[in-house]
Amino acid sequence: MKIKKGDQVIVISGKDRGRKGKIIEALPKEGRVIVGGINLRKKHMKPKKSGEKGQIIELPAPFSVSNVKLICQKCGKATRVSYKKEGNKKYRICKKCGQEI
Ligand SMILES: [Zn+2]
Repeated sequence: MKIKKGDQVIVISGKDRGRKGKIIEALPKEGRVIVGGINLRKKHMKPKKSGEKGQIIELPAPFSVSNVKLICQKCGKATRVSYKKEGNKKYRICKKCGQEI
């Protein structure tokens, strides 16, 4: 997967289209990602003690990595990624500015 934890991305489809966020978790096996503040789902939390009220919290749910585009830290543009190999190392290269990301 070309996107990994900590990357800045922009959502390109769905209800959160156009919004930006940071990858909290990448799930390469499923081809999905969890992005902070994006695709929020309400979750009901049971009260911890009796007499306490249950809470509803919103948590970001995983969605397909094809719905996001990486934002290059160097040029700040939404971009596609290509790879460059140097010895055993593999670099991600921004297709817009050609810098390593
Ligand atoms: Zn760039």
